[in-house]
Amino acid sequence: MEILNYINGQLQPALSGSWLDNYEPATAQVYGRLPDSGAEDVAAATISAKAAFPAWAKTPVGERARLLNRLADLIERDLDKLAAAESRDQGKPVALATRMDIPRAVDNFRFFATAIQHFASESHHTDGAAINYTLRQPIGVVGCISPWNLPLYLFSWKIAPALAAGNTVVAKPSEITPATAYLLCELCIEAGFPAGVLNIVFGLGPKVGQAMSEHPDIPAISFTGGTLTGATIARTAAPMFKKLSLELGGKNPNIIFADADYDKALNSAVRSSFTNQGEICLCGSRLLIERSIYERFRSDFVAKVKALTVDDPITNPDLGAIVSQPHFEKVLSYIQLAQEEGGKLLTGGKAVKVSGRCEKGWFIEPTVFENLPNSCRTNQEEIFGPVVTLIPFDTEAEALAMANDTVYGLAAQLWTENLSRSQRMSSALKFGIVWVNCWLLRDLRTPFGGAKASGVGREGGWDALKFFTEATNVCIRY
Ligand code: NDP
Repeated sequence: MEILNYINGQLQPALSGSWLDNYEPATAQVYGRLPDSGAEDVAAATISAKAAFPAWAKTPVGERARLLNRLADLIERDLDKLAAAESRDQGKPVALATRMDIPRAVDNFRFFATAIQHFASESHHTDGAAINYTLRQPIGVVGCISPWNLPLYLFSWKIAPALAAGNTVVAKPSEITPATAYLLCELCIEAGFPAGVLNIVFGLGPKVGQAMSEHPDIPAISFTGGTLTGATIARTAAPMFKKLSLELGGKNPNIIFADADYDKALNSAVRSSFTNQGEICLCGSRLLIERSIYERFRSDFVAKVKALTVDDPITNPDLGAIVSQPHFEKVLSYIQLAQEEGGKLLTGGKAVKVSGRCEKGWFIEPTVFENLPNSCRTNQEEIFGPVVTLIPFDTEAEALAMANDTVYGLAAQLWTENLSRSQRMSSALKFGIVWVNCWLLRDLRTPFGGAKASGVGREGGWDALKFFTEATNVCIRY
């Protein structure tokens, strides 16, 4: 597969003519190439986006919504093709991409096509003397940078509200998973998007992403990725007073009380630990379990994890391949670290050799440790792979203290049938999201994002549309 940049409505290679290899994680083989773009490509994309902005901003909301809905329809039409491409590029099971990633991309475009038509701004009467109302206008050219774990899902989660609000976009998907963003370029052309409204530049983060952060004509950046990269972008963007939305890493607790619905908590814990090989920022990687059920839970959980299969993502619905060789090595190094820190390995812990076409692929067993204090590195650092730890607790206060004892604050899970406890805990957990008796149950209207080192700002619903617009208060004296 040859991937090209999408600039000013045209598909083109990097101006330098350089290329990067694109790997299939399940086979560890190169199967395509993508432009190794640089600052000059970002500059060209920005010029094109700037030129397209006045007309796009003036395009009636209904027409912008129609184009976004048209794009959603085309993604839905190509669901199987896109799911296969996502799986091949990322390593995730085709079944997961078919059920989750691609339908969610469809929903993202449909949701914001509708939301923008209902978006209203506040007005106030001021002491009988004036009326104040708020204009919410598109910002101009905005930058969208997204990671490799849920490629089209997270890419569309940014560009849909940005475009709906009337901005033009320069976007960069992860260089590790460019395939579905490229297929999206083809669908934008088919849908009849005006040239320059959406520009996609493929290449390395430190080149393309950095050039976007530095570019004076990109006054707002929406970024999802690692906390260190978020800090780099913030350092670059802050002196230019750019608007920033940062969705960063997590080390999420999954707190299970003895009064939980046991079977639901158990089954959900398996899912929230290992879906997408644990490569979801919302996965629960620290399982805090009330001591009175700890032994029973440990043995049932380990039995269910042992039953998960790791195999060719084309056919296997459970765990596919780890996204890249560096990430594969990083996850294995954390498994080593957990053992050095005194962790007791309950299951997993090794790379998996899959036979046939996947024999060289990057596969890792779902891995469970216990006997590690919450303070150790294994329990404090984001592994972002199929590795979780089990930690017993005695009291609600102890569970809360351990859950909050992390630099991160993305998503917590809470399993209890006690309504008062769920209220108490939800308000005391320092996280952007608290899921009570569920996981990954998403409503696109809700504010989505993290506290502390997990990010700045919120996406979703009105929050996204507020981020992608500039407010002007107009005060009219009677
Ligand atoms: P990275 O931070 O490595 O990369 C994210 C994106 O930023 C990629 O497109 C990357 O490009 C780009 N990038 C890298 N360096 C720079 C730079 N200096 N300036 C601008 N852009 C840059 O994250 P990963 O792709 O490894 O994704 C995993 C991380 O994302 C995890 O920490 C995870 O928790 C987090 N995440 C957070 C979510 C949330 O909603 N809070 C959701 C999903 C993931 P390239 O890949 O080409 O290097």
